[in-house]
Amino acid sequence: MAKRDYYEVLGVTRTATDVEITKAYRGLAKKYHPDQNPGDEEVVVKYHEVSEAYEVLKDPTRKQIYDRYGHEGLAQAASGGGGGAGVDLSDLLGQVFGDFLGGGGGRRRARGPRRGEDIEDVLDVDLLEAATGVKKTISIRYEANCKECSGSGAKPGTQPAQCKRCKGSGAEYVSAGGLFSFPQACRGCGGRGAVNPDPCKACRGAGRTEARESLDLNVPPGVDTRVRLSVPGHGHEGAPGAPRGNLELVIRVREHKVFERDGHNLICQFPVSFARAALGGPVELATLTGQKVTIEVPRGAQTHTTVLRVAGHGMPDLDDPRRKGDLLVILVVETPTALSPEQEQLLRRLAELDGTPPPTPRKGFFGKLKDLISGDGPPTEQRK
Ligand SMILES: [Zn+2]
Ligand SMILES: [Zn+2]
Repeated sequence: MAKRDYYEVLGVTRTATDVEITKAYRGLAKKYHPDQNPGDEEVVVKYHEVSEAYEVLKDPTRKQIYDRYGHEGLAQAASGGGGGAGVDLSDLLGQVFGDFLGGGGGRRRARGPRRGEDIEDVLDVDLLEAATGVKKTISIRYEANCKECSGSGAKPGTQPAQCKRCKGSGAEYVSAGGLFSFPQACRGCGGRGAVNPDPCKACRGAGRTEARESLDLNVPPGVDTRVRLSVPGHGHEGAPGAPRGNLELVIRVREHKVFERDGHNLICQFPVSFARAALGGPVELATLTGQKVTIEVPRGAQTHTTVLRVAGHGMPDLDDPRRKGDLLVILVVETPTALSPEQEQLLRRLAELDGTPPPTPRKGFFGKLKDLISGDGPPTEQRK
């Protein structure tokens, strides 16, 4: 036999106060008390039904579960949601209630109207912006309560009615096979527990509309991809009277053409001529922020393996922007392709000194240059 709705059993509405519930229970308990009705089996059943309804509705947590998920919800809660004994009811409540958006529909809640949902979004910044910090103006869209109907969804002057499908609980159960069933938002009312026979025109009965706002954001220096920026109070609107949710932005740093990030350090490749690599000496390079710094190329620098560290020109620390990582400069030695007649002459001379006739050296050109300057063959006046 299907269980009757507890409110129906006590003959009260879903919005009844604790006092009204207790009063109704006392009246019925007296009426159906077995002592008053000796030998009447049907009345005994009713007495137990009334007692059971009251046991649930007088307990705020169980009442909340029942309001949301009905008899099945209570059964699941009692069995620990299928996970055995010892489950805290309020934990379960948090879990199952977390699946639902919005609230209202005449349902009473112990903790006041429901706070709005958070908005999750991605915020793209350039690597330079991530290094220096940046002010950004962004436009967000959020769900707001319809101003025409104050979020009820009912045409102004009319009242929403309890959803018949879920009896106002907002939930219905989907069988998962066997003994288990899972609550999901009622398809009759979208989880609101109420329907509007005469819907508000502005929001088509949804009670919600889309709103936009523009926000000025300060992105702090040092942010990296996946860093979250939380902007409290700029999420979706909650139930009427409840605070808005938060805007949760996840940073995504765009790739830079020159600089690559590795934690707090920046890495870049820097081209040097083979002559500079061989002889060593100062070269000037521009950092991510455009600052010119002079670095000293060591004599005999090797392509892709000689790495120079420029301290303090990496990314700032998010917690303490004064602390900065380093810039690691990977030297890339460039082999010339277009030679002036003078350059060609010099290179031919170099090749001759090395003892291997151009143009088909077995070793790479630079390898020989290295041999040359490391003192294996050529006279020292080749060194500058
Ligand atoms: Zn409306
Ligand atoms: Zn419903």
